[in-house]
Amino acid sequence: MDYNLIKNILAKKSNIVITTHKTPDGDALGSSLALFHALKTKHHVSVIVPNQYPDYLKWLPSNDVVHIYENNESNSNNVISNADLIFCLDFNKLYRTYTMSHILESTTCFKIMIDHHEEPDDFCDQFLVDTSSCSTAELVFTFLKNINFTFNKDIATCLYAGITTDSGSFRYPNVTRDTHLKIAELMKFDINHSMIHQSLFDSQNKSRIDLLKICLDNLEILKKEKAAITFLMQSDLVSCNFKKGDTEGFVNFPLSIKNIVFSTFFIEYEDGIKISFRSQGDFDVNLFAKSYFNGGGHKNAAGGFLKNRNMKKAIVYFKKVLLEHMLSR
Ligand code: 5GP
Ligand code: MN
Repeated sequence: MDYNLIKNILAKKSNIVITTHKTPDGDALGSSLALFHALKTKHHVSVIVPNQYPDYLKWLPSNDVVHIYENNESNSNNVISNADLIFCLDFNKLYRTYTMSHILESTTCFKIMIDHHEEPDDFCDQFLVDTSSCSTAELVFTFLKNINFTFNKDIATCLYAGITTDSGSFRYPNVTRDTHLKIAELMKFDINHSMIHQSLFDSQNKSRIDLLKICLDNLEILKKEKAAITFLMQSDLVSCNFKKGDTEGFVNFPLSIKNIVFSTFFIEYEDGIKISFRSQGDFDVNLFAKSYFNGGGHKNAAGGFLKNRNMKKAIVYFKKVLLEHMLSR
């Protein structure tokens, strides 16, 4: 990242678009809104996300400015076409922006990627990419420091929410001393960390618990492979009155079982089966998702997708490729 170049670009008032990946999580939305709060004093800034985000993020400062691309494509396309600068946060492959990817691909304006996923594609002009960083929010922190922005309570709150989300509340191996130093700096701004945790984790819908019951009922342990699988069918989503974000984190539950180091969670949606992978230790789920499930992510957290909607076949396929994969290692 050429910070002098960025400072020069930001020296004049610009139309800026900040965007992130489909179904934004706390890191994606926290990073986007932190940057919004930093840039809005001097620039015209729009935050446009591909689709709706979960209710438990709807308390983030200024979340009401966020445009949902799929709710107003033509207006969003106009804003994107007129942008001088686009920030791409928390994703590194255009397809992660879903139906927004066409317009992003067709714009020629200056683009900056700030992200922590493996193997970035080359669709931006400047990159702040660090795959060892636990969250994009940490990188936005670094970015803002390097272009000499002073923080305020709103920026600090959004960054704290982002870091907390993607670090598993500061427990994942990629949390460092530097992560905690950044948190200490953010806490200087009188943020209400307890409220942030409560808003993120203790404000869930009843439908989440109903879905969790089914999910735990479907749990299957593959003892030899030290793996666990679970799934939800579309009919479960309907009968429990599923709302976006309800199933977030379900994939982590099986990892709390002794000797389970790899957890996989399948959800049947209308257009196919979305799969989440989580691991502990050496098992590289980014490689696994990329090799067999058209996906990717990080070493210990990744996702993928199967267009085929047959859950039984998907699970049979999973077991087969897991064995092959383990034998080949
Ligand atoms: P989740 O299971 O929470 O959807 O995703 C876990 C991690 O993998 C996240 O960091 C997410 O950005 C990434 N990820 C999820 N699905 C995909 C995918 O289809 N492709 C790629 N490249 N990354 C994904
Ligand atoms: Mn992230």
